[in-house]
Amino acid sequence: MQFCPKCKGLMEPQKKKGRVVLVCRKCGKTKRLDDENNLKLKNKTPEKEPMETDVVVLDKENDIKALPKTRIQCRECENDEAYWWLQQTRSVDEAPTRFFKCTKCGHTWRQYD
Ligand SMILES: [Zn+2]
Ligand SMILES: [Zn+2]
Repeated sequence: MQFCPKCKGLMEPQKKKGRVVLVCRKCGKTKRLDDENNLKLKNKTPEKEPMETDVVVLDKENDIKALPKTRIQCRECENDEAYWWLQQTRSVDEAPTRFFKCTKCGHTWRQYD
């Protein structure tokens, strides 16, 4: 966790022009990561920039650790935390479906509205 040197806001990693930089959520100040951190993050951060839309599309199984988590109960093991992401199903006219994956047992399910 890193904080903005300017306004002390929380800084989040984002991908810009192929490099991971820290961006302040409050004032938008950017800060470059040192190379060691950059390498570590590169393997975990999906290609898309989830901060801009708040929508995460899961492409690869590897991306799972970069997904946001939410408190929801798993039906399989009663763990109360799961990763979630949105996926466009069938036609583009339909709203994307929200999927959950249990952080403990890996059980995946979709949310029906
Ligand atoms: Zn700031
Ligand atoms: Zn579970």
